[in-house]
Amino acid sequence: MSEANQGSVRQLSHFINGQHAAGTSGQFADVLDPALGRVTARLPVANAEDVDAAVAAAKAAFPGWSETAPLKRARLMFKFKELLETYSDELAELITRDHGKLFEDAKGEVIRGIEIVEFACGIPNLLKTDFTDQSAPGIDAWNLRQPVGVAMGVTPFNFPMVVPCWMFVMAAATGNTFILKPSERTPSASIRLAELFIEAGFPKGVFNVLHGSKAVVDALMQHPDVVAVSAVASTPVAEYIYKESAKYGKRVQALGSAKNHLVVLPDANLNKTVDAIINSSYGSAGERCMATSVVVAVGSVGDELIERLAPRVRSLKMGGGMEPGLDMGPLISAAHRTKVLGYIDAGLTAGARLVVDGRGQTVAGHEEGFFLGGSLFDDVTPQMSIYREEIFGPVLSVVRVPDLASAIALVNAHELGNCVSLYTSDGGAARAFTRQIQIGMVGINLPSPVPSAWHSFGGWKRSMFGAHHAYGEEAVRFYTRYKSVIEHWPDCPP
Ligand code: NAD
Repeated sequence: MSEANQGSVRQLSHFINGQHAAGTSGQFADVLDPALGRVTARLPVANAEDVDAAVAAAKAAFPGWSETAPLKRARLMFKFKELLETYSDELAELITRDHGKLFEDAKGEVIRGIEIVEFACGIPNLLKTDFTDQSAPGIDAWNLRQPVGVAMGVTPFNFPMVVPCWMFVMAAATGNTFILKPSERTPSASIRLAELFIEAGFPKGVFNVLHGSKAVVDALMQHPDVVAVSAVASTPVAEYIYKESAKYGKRVQALGSAKNHLVVLPDANLNKTVDAIINSSYGSAGERCMATSVVVAVGSVGDELIERLAPRVRSLKMGGGMEPGLDMGPLISAAHRTKVLGYIDAGLTAGARLVVDGRGQTVAGHEEGFFLGGSLFDDVTPQMSIYREEIFGPVLSVVRVPDLASAIALVNAHELGNCVSLYTSDGGAARAFTRQIQIGMVGINLPSPVPSAWHSFGGWKRSMFGAHHAYGEEAVRFYTRYKSVIEHWPDCPP
């Protein structure tokens, strides 16, 4: 994005059948830069006609694309990866301007998106299947994994590049065509991704982008030509998409909200633990689904943890995301900041101890931005809403428990189960924790345990609906249908 354009309002578009499309609804939504608190782009909102056009493009592209050899698809992925590397700073800047996260953080997101593409470059090997010679006399048994058809994706505001990559990259690599409905708050990166996809040589119609919110998602989910639905959203929305898609007979995976615990045993290395908590809880202003939002202090460790955490939280540096040397940027919107402030009030009313109060902090030159300083609560109990509910902001709760068994019971009783971490120097405790914990992603002496691109990502309980996790081999399974073949040639010699 050129500096000269920063004061103007950009006109964004859908991306249908390999080109920009203005859409036919005549309706638009504003996209704001959260660090400035002002409108920076206008987004067309799709109507039924736009939905039909995108689905028709994806449907028309499917026969040719699904028959394209996996090696050819992989070669296009290699080219796409090169383009993503070439334009990585531009993509990161688009992310920062729409979302507010720090430029360095946005660059990290771009790298994680590229890692999904790198994994997809190995698609010929990933689509290899099993063969049993002489399954019975004169009979061979084998299986196929075939693409499902037109797939759609719904993505959240907080990872404008990486979550779309989990979906359209893996869907296209496995031979499907795709329609992405990105977050209406952070749409710019997905449009650039669609442009680069075409530049890499993918056929038109393989990857389409449509903007809007619930009405567009509903129209896509209900469309008879859409067969698979991937969603990443807050739990109420993920559950709605899961149930609605299932009602219409779609294959569906829907990842939801998080309330991630980080359990600290008294034998943990506290220097490293405190660093990890600060980065995981306050990075990206707490708007990561893998952010630590609850520290569970076991036994005697609570007082020292609070003593060490409090000054670090007080000294967090906030600012506009393109500036260097900062710890966090703004929240996504004024409405979301009001919601987070409401949680701080609720914590105080419920009797939690507000050790660090981040309210009222401003950033010079960004007075209209949606900033909120870091807050730290001690003496939080499982009954409080600040413990039970996802806050999605820079507010960390500390809960104290007497022993590891109580910590495991606490984490397992929470309705959400995205990720969890344990800090300890006791291997036996770590092993027991890993086996007993009812959570989808586990970190031992690591916060925010995001699986590598060749593993798979997903929570348990009400953090995920559907059987398949995102990306990695789970995505290959989600975006392909299993077919079993038994073959006999009676005249063939044994
Ligand atoms: P959101 O639920 O408000 O919106 C997510 C997407 O759903 C957007 O594209 C939005 O347009 C669409 N949407 C909103 N309401 C809808 C409705 N009623 N019907 C159909 N579609 C609807 O979430 P958000 O605020 O954009 O993102 C933050 C949330 O996403 C947090 O809860 C976070 O934990 C979650 N998240 C989860 C993961 C994960 O991997 N589990 C990853 C990132 C974010």
